[in-house]
Amino acid sequence: MPGYNTHRIFNYVIFAAIVALAWYESINPKQLMALGIGFYIGTNFLTPDLDTESTAIKRWGRLKIFFLPYKWLFTHRQSSHNIVYGAVVRILYISLIMLVLYYVLFKSFPSGTVFFSVYILLFLIGIITANALHVLLDAIF
Ligand SMILES: [Zn+2]
Repeated sequence: MPGYNTHRIFNYVIFAAIVALAWYESINPKQLMALGIGFYIGTNFLTPDLDTESTAIKRWGRLKIFFLPYKWLFTHRQSSHNIVYGAVVRILYISLIMLVLYYVLFKSFPSGTVFFSVYILLFLIGIITANALHVLLDAIF
């Protein structure tokens, strides 16, 4: 099973190729940035290995407590490593936690929040792509 750093190096190499392709195709830099931030978070923080005591979960520091229910719910390398819905479940999980925290702090939900924009979509695609690369590398080794 590839380690945390192997996953990171693999993802960064693929992302460098994506950036080179985007530069060649003159993609909007802001959109590439949104994709890159999602990709970074998907590579380093919101990885499929949050289902076990991994380096990824340790990077959350004290906040890793929020992933205890996630670890209890998902057996290591089972549905969390599903290439289709694994990342989507993690995104929904972290979004729910953030919404609950926001509600607890401010006793209301964010008003006028833009729930859809091309940047949010690219950000999510970045996370999903990084997670898919993780699952692919796990499948190879
Ligand atoms: Zn894994």
